[in-house]
Amino acid sequence: MNAPCDPDCIFCKIIAGEIPCAKILETENFLAFLDIAPVRPGHTLVVSKGHYPTLFDLPAGLGTELTQALQAVSRAVMDGTGADGFNVGMNNFKAAGQLVHHAHIHVIPRVENDGLELWGQTPYPDQDRMAQTASRIRARIPGAQ
Ligand code: AMP
Ligand code: ZN
Repeated sequence: MNAPCDPDCIFCKIIAGEIPCAKILETENFLAFLDIAPVRPGHTLVVSKGHYPTLFDLPAGLGTELTQALQAVSRAVMDGTGADGFNVGMNNFKAAGQLVHHAHIHVIPRVENDGLELWGQTPYPDQDRMAQTASRIRARIPGAQ
């Protein structure tokens, strides 16, 4: 099931045991380890063992295993760091800040008033613009009305 590893990929090297990591959890198709440069201590990456560059490439059949791994890791990160909450995020493609092109999901522990800002949001100028945007996106989903 796993895509062949890319010899130039840092996460493939970690998965192959060629580069060390602070391991948190290993399942059949995922490895979770601490991010080397955390947003906050305990920031963990859940990484596919196969070299799938983005979310688009991850086999959908891994969805249940991924959800279970994320739930187990997020719970443990929260409890193990005394956090009040956590963010789960995934950068896909360079424009979205993806630096390592091997699918991975960030789990970041948060505490009340920790000063970290989420990205800024702006409301649509009007309902029409919002409806047009929804319809443009919906049109790209096969079978969606
Ligand atoms: P992204 O920007 O979503 O591609 O995030 C890549 C993440 O990988 C960054 O947060 C890095 O700090 C992290 N990272 C890079 N090299 C390593 C490594 N050897 N061990 C653990 N985390 C790493
Ligand atoms: Zn890789």
